[in-house]
Amino acid sequence: MIHNKTQKTALVTGGGSGIGKSICLRLASKGFTVLVVDLDINAANKVMDEILTLGGNAFSYAVDVANHQQVSALFKSINEKHPIDILINNAGIAHIGNIEQTTEQDLDRLYNINVKGVYNCIHATINEMKKKQSGVIINLASVASSVGIADRFAYSMTKGAVLTMTYSVAKDYINDGIRCNCISPGRVHTPFVDNFLEKNYPNNKAEMFEKLSASQPIGRMGQPEEIASLIDYLCSDDAAFITGSNFPIDGGFVTLNN
Ligand code: NAD
Repeated sequence: MIHNKTQKTALVTGGGSGIGKSICLRLASKGFTVLVVDLDINAANKVMDEILTLGGNAFSYAVDVANHQQVSALFKSINEKHPIDILINNAGIAHIGNIEQTTEQDLDRLYNINVKGVYNCIHATINEMKKKQSGVIINLASVASSVGIADRFAYSMTKGAVLTMTYSVAKDYINDGIRCNCISPGRVHTPFVDNFLEKNYPNNKAEMFEKLSASQPIGRMGQPEEIASLIDYLCSDDAAFITGSNFPIDGGFVTLNN
C-alpha cells in the first residue's frame, strides 16, 4: 500500500478526524512521513497507528492550534527532528447562526481556531521553509469563503480570512520557493456533519442529511477521500506551477447554485 518513500514530511492539523484523517492516510500512502497533529491526542494516535499498520511512517502530537505558545514550542521541536516540507492547515470548527445569534464568545472562539490557528501554524513554519527555499502550505477554506453561507456568520467570516491569508502568504513568499494555496470544499460527509445533525436535528437526521446533500447541485456530499486526492495533487511536484490559488471542490455549489 505504501509507495516509494519520499523522505518528505507533511504536518496535518486536525489530522485525527474527517478530512484531516483522509489527508494523513493519503499522504502516508505516497511515502510522506506524516505528523498527525490534533487537540484530541487519542484520535491522532489512532490515525498514526493505522498508518504504521499499513507500513507507513507517522508520529502524533497534541496541540491546540489556537494557542500561540503551544504551537511555537511544538513546531520548534518538530522542526529539529523532521523539518516540515508540507503544512496542511486543516483543523477547524463550525458555528451555526446569523450575526444576532453569534455571541462575542462565539466570534472569538471561531476566530481563535479557524483564523489565528492558521496564522500560528504558518508563523511557526515559514522561517524553516525560507531557510530551505522550499515548502508547500495548503489551507482548508470553504465555499463559505467566497459566497458566505446562510446562518454561518462567524464561520463564513473565518473562512473568508483563510482565503485572503492564502493569497497574502503566496505573494510574500513567492521568491522563497514556497507555494501556498487553499481549497474550498462544499459539504463533505465527516463527523463535522454528523455531529451537527445529531446536535441540531436529533429527530430528523436522515431528512436533514438528504437536504444537505441536495444543496450540492451534483446531488450528494463530498467524500473525505476526494478532498485528500486534491490535496495530494497540490502537494506534489506536478503542481509546481500552482501558487496563490483557491480550488473549489464542491459539486457545483458556488457556480451552479443559481
Ligand atoms: P472534523 O470535525 O471531522 O475534524 C476536525 C479535527 O480538528 C478534529 O479531529 C478536531 O479534534 C480537530 N481540532 C478542532 N479544534 C482544534 C484545535 N483547536 N487544535 C487542534 N485540532 C483541533 O472536521 P472536518 O469536516 O474534517 O473539517 C476539516 C476542515 O475542513 C475544517 O477546517 C472545516 O472548516 C473544513 N471544511 C469542512 C467541510 C465539511 O463539510 N466537512 C466543508 C468545507 C470545509
